[in-house]
Amino acid sequence: MAIAYLCLGSNSGDRLKSVEQAVSLINLAQNVKIIRTSALYETEPWGVKDQNWFINMAVEVKTDLNAQDLLVKCLNIEKTLGRDREKEQRWGERPIDIDIIFYDKEVINTKLLTVPHPRMHQRAFVLVPLLELIPDFIHPVLNKSVSELYDDLENVEDVFLYGTRGHMYE
Ligand code: ADP
Ligand code: MG
Repeated sequence: MAIAYLCLGSNSGDRLKSVEQAVSLINLAQNVKIIRTSALYETEPWGVKDQNWFINMAVEVKTDLNAQDLLVKCLNIEKTLGRDREKEQRWGERPIDIDIIFYDKEVINTKLLTVPHPRMHQRAFVLVPLLELIPDFIHPVLNKSVSELYDDLENVEDVFLYGTRGHMYE
């Protein structure tokens, strides 16, 4: 059993619906249970600026899957929700993006998967939702807490509270 943190994002189509559907599908996946979710945030695009703003949130899950299998599940959910990587530009528009930010304190560097997520500490849209859930969690490579990483951010893109979600999971 592991605890993992996922970051969800959408900036095309019905953004809110895509994020909510992703939450439901994650919770329906076998061997994955959502424990807590952050609020929803509306965030400025990072990297490629000339595109719609995103809806982002963080999700805490309990899982029996190893990190690799959890990623495969996330990629399948992205596909189910209409994501087609062939048509995309890097960091461009997408109906749904699901990233694994942390998987317990594991450090993973394979071709398919890097955990902790390699750019999480540069992104306010990841750190702000995570601050709600695990401000004191220590990043196993950078050896800093989530709140220290947030304090260290140099370029803080805009992150606005969009709303809270109506319900919590078990
Ligand atoms: P990004 O999330 O940086 O915008 P993509 O969503 O297009 O990029 O992801 C591209 C690939 O990144 C995925 O197919 C996956 O194999 C790989 N990847 C590596 N590490 C992770 C991670 N921690 N979480 C999610 N995907 C990851
Ligand atoms: Mg991704």
